[in-house]
Amino acid sequence: MIIYGTRSAHLHSVQKTTPVCPNCEEKGTLLISVYRKHAHIFWVPIFPLGKSGASHCKNCKQALRSNEMPEPLKKEYQIIKKETKGPIWQFSGVFIAFFFLIFAGFTSQNNKKLEQEYLNQPMAGDVYEYRVANKQFSTMKVIQVDSDSLFIALNDFEISEASRIYKIDSPENYPDVVYGFSKKEITAMYSSGKIFDINRN
Ligand SMILES: [Zn+2]
Repeated sequence: MIIYGTRSAHLHSVQKTTPVCPNCEEKGTLLISVYRKHAHIFWVPIFPLGKSGASHCKNCKQALRSNEMPEPLKKEYQIIKKETKGPIWQFSGVFIAFFFLIFAGFTSQNNKKLEQEYLNQPMAGDVYEYRVANKQFSTMKVIQVDSDSLFIALNDFEISEASRIYKIDSPENYPDVVYGFSKKEITAMYSSGKIFDINRN
């Protein structure tokens, strides 16, 4: 269950000397407050949604929302609202998303770099994830490396979801039969995307 909704944060309250209370007609008794709403998910503010306000009379205790204020009071409120800046923390979700994207980008770039290393310097035990026909995926394992060829065992199993490929990568799924590939062939399979991931333990 995702808990989400909106909340209002109090930004600022000002007691001005000029406005007259529309109810008791006292001057200088009104406290004008500005709030800003934000959307939240699990109470983490995501982004702000707009300001609202209220006035509160210290004399007669009447409270008015900004849309209930008579014109002169509304004008005062609008000036205060314009001058009041909302806090940056109401953008927390935007920052979290931004840092997550940067981190994800960095991780994926690092991953590609490692894969290139594994490709250039193959080792026995490396596992290549590759596309089989009919949108199926499987793995092959490097058993032995020579100067310019690789001896590889092909996994007996296939799976239809690339993200679950780890489920079939267990030692008993590789038969004793090995096939020879030149390093060039493997590089070509990687460049074309047939091999899409390389894992080393
Ligand atoms: Zn009043």
